[in-house]
Amino acid sequence: MLDTADAALADLRALVGDAQVLTGEDTARFAKDWTGKWRADPLAVVRPASTAEVSDVVRCAARHGLAIVPVGGNTGLVGGTANQGAVMVSLERMAAIREVRPAARLAVVEGGAILSDIHDAVEAEGLVFPLTFGARQSARVGGFLSTNAGGSNVVRHGPTRGLVLGLEVVLADGRVLDLMSELHKDNSGYDLKDLFIGAEGTLGLITAAVVRLHPKPRHHATALAAVAGLPAALDLLNRLQTASDGAVEAFEYMPRTYMGELARLRPDLRQPFPVGDHAVMIELGGLSRPLDDVLEEVLGDALERGEVLDAMVAQDEAQRRLIWEMREAAAEITFTRLPIVDNDVCLPVDRVEAFIDRMHDELERLSPGAETLIVSHLGDGNVHLTVYPKDDDPAHLDAIREMVEGIVVDLRGSISAEHGIGLSKLATMTRRKDPVALDVMRAVKRALDPDGVMNPGKVVPD
Ligand SMILES: Cc1cc2nc3c(=O)[nH]c(=O)nc-3n(C[C@H](O)[C@H](O)[C@H](O)COP(=O)(O)OP(=O)(O)OC[C@H]3O[C@@H](n4cnc5c(N)ncnc54)[C@H](O)[C@@H]3O)c2cc1C
Repeated sequence: MLDTADAALADLRALVGDAQVLTGEDTARFAKDWTGKWRADPLAVVRPASTAEVSDVVRCAARHGLAIVPVGGNTGLVGGTANQGAVMVSLERMAAIREVRPAARLAVVEGGAILSDIHDAVEAEGLVFPLTFGARQSARVGGFLSTNAGGSNVVRHGPTRGLVLGLEVVLADGRVLDLMSELHKDNSGYDLKDLFIGAEGTLGLITAAVVRLHPKPRHHATALAAVAGLPAALDLLNRLQTASDGAVEAFEYMPRTYMGELARLRPDLRQPFPVGDHAVMIELGGLSRPLDDVLEEVLGDALERGEVLDAMVAQDEAQRRLIWEMREAAAEITFTRLPIVDNDVCLPVDRVEAFIDRMHDELERLSPGAETLIVSHLGDGNVHLTVYPKDDDPAHLDAIREMVEGIVVDLRGSISAEHGIGLSKLATMTRRKDPVALDVMRAVKRALDPDGVMNPGKVVPD
């Protein structure tokens, strides 16, 4: 008589073939996430090749009472894929870009398609799928939809949710929910697709999507500017929005502590002005006309007012890439030491400074000697704040998290801007999420996944 695990593995192999059920050492690259902070050994990683196979795999795992954990590029930062003994479902064999339809400004993509492959496919048509972030060469459709990822272009295009027209989802009972709409308007009942975007795999497994495309800017104007501080940066952002008719594609704030760490850890990225200044990375995207003049004029005025201290406008693609690399090194330079308390919060844009000031004051009292690293998608009020305390006692780390949350909630911000909840912010959800909202989330979870097999233990605390 086979035990449950062996019986489940035998059934899974019968469904997708022996080679597509990875076990033991073969699961190593899935067992640990990008940060290395979260690891759990799955029973198996299964790699179906079609929606029908995904459905069979989900039914089979559920029948054996096994947890089902969807995994994409495993670049999520909150422990969303860690689950000991689970059946992980990887869609890396379902990575096709099925259609690019320039006239309709949409693409139909499979759940395992890699973000940068979508970029390349639509660029050939003069279009852009405007979601971008440092992990774009690994992150997959199911992963970035399930985390409602943000990134650097949110200031112009909003987060992932607004870039999705349709979805296909395999539910916990194996049924296929076909929401593959190509429509811009559809008021026929509840908007079910939005339930699955940002659900981190707890409500179903996304197997395909219809995504919106936008015209690709033909001209980029990119700069790195040293600024006098946050109010100066915010003023610069708003002036640029007005002067460019809303063409700001990215506006990233990198305070002096960040630029200092960057100089220390990435000396190859040579900074154009003295380390010790706050910096912003700016990119304007002109659809039909160059915007260098607009950028230079606004920067010039700000220089005269003393809000900008110095600036380097990229003269060619190599300089543009250098500026982007300075920003995109953030994840790499953040996860270099322990202990850390990493926060990903969102605030009304005009309260970011109040948040940072209050947080530093309270941190000094709570955790003397703690260091911080901040980098911010300032255009949408998203602050990535990492605290490096001297004391690694878990209770102390949680006290820091609680302090940060308290200020965020007080300023009417959100405890998670773009990375999601996973395992890392469950305590925060319990403490800070509106109890009625939590009840509604639990009701939705029970309705769609009554046996709790889809990525259990994530997002919504018990
Ligand atoms: C260098 C770096 C930079 C980053 N920058 C940003 C940034 O600027 N903005 C931002 O928002 N995020 C950023 N991230 C984190 C970001 O959330 C992830 O990179 C991405 O969104 C997750 O995609 P993934 O395919 O790696 O998903 P995974 O990490 O594999 O999974 C993430 C979650 O989605 C679920 N999931 C995966 N596939 C499916 C599916 N098919 N159906 C249902 N659920 C599924 C998983 O169970 C898990 O809960 C960054 C990460 C790194 C490493």
